Amino acid sequence: MSIVHLENVFKDYTLGEQQVQALRDVTLNIEDGAFLAIAGPSGSGKSTLLNLIGCIDTPSSGKIFINGQDIGGKKPDELSDLRARTLGFIFQTFNLLPVLSAEENVEYPLLQFKELNATERRGRVAKYLAIVGLSSFTRHRPSQLSGGQRQRVAIARALATQPKIVLADEPTANLDHKTGEGILQLMKNINVEFKTTFIFSTHDRRVMELADRLVHIEDGRIVTQEVRAGGPAVVIERSPATNHPLVQGANQSEADGTHI
Ligand code: ADP
Ligand code: MG
Repeated sequence: MSIVHLENVFKDYTLGEQQVQALRDVTLNIEDGAFLAIAGPSGSGKSTLLNLIGCIDTPSSGKIFINGQDIGGKKPDELSDLRARTLGFIFQTFNLLPVLSAEENVEYPLLQFKELNATERRGRVAKYLAIVGLSSFTRHRPSQLSGGQRQRVAIARALATQPKIVLADEPTANLDHKTGEGILQLMKNINVEFKTTFIFSTHDRRVMELADRLVHIEDGRIVTQEVRAGGPAVVIERSPATNHPLVQGANQSEADGTHI
């Protein structure tokens, strides 16, 4: 089943006198459960494409379907409901609220779900912080966490609403290579375990290697689409002390300060 479908999508920006064609005639079908990378150089239209899929922005022309719904005719409150319940977001700069602890950051998007009471919210928060391997860091503020740990809080926050699709705009761009690879592997493990669709952008060749679908974009156009084998085999080790089965060696390498 297709979870995201774009049909002849164009996006133009006007900047002063200048017209920028950020996306040109993009037609793309993303299957439910995909682990898909959008690859391309800086300025090629990756963020624009993710913002359209994330209903953060609207196309100049063309149609977009998210989870079977045509988002064209939707009212702003319907779109924000779709964003809140169907989509999760992970950003390059983590975008955590600095005054809130890890658990408060993860709880934050759940506060708008009136059907969840405080106990249920806390249960969700604990569950997803455990999945990203941060059960021992729930009270830490972002400034007390390494970059990789911050991004794992952001992953827990994106997952806590149990979205069908997680969008990640260059999620590893601010991390060193080893930490970035750990983050991608964690996303991949979650994709395999929970069947959550992941759509992420990158210009890092090593990050692309982990994708099972690769869409190359240049100058606002899709130039190639590859279906890949699904990256390296996933080895899951169980270590009950700090690690959830989906995280491998998550805290060992970072807690000692080797990865900032
Ligand atoms: P990428 O994420 O691949 O670096 P973007 O989607 O951010 O690329 O940008 C694609 C093109 O659209 C670039 O030429 C960029 O300058 C332009 N662009 C992006 N956002 C805006 C905006 N808000 N206003 C004007 N031009 C923009
Ligand atoms: Mg970008």
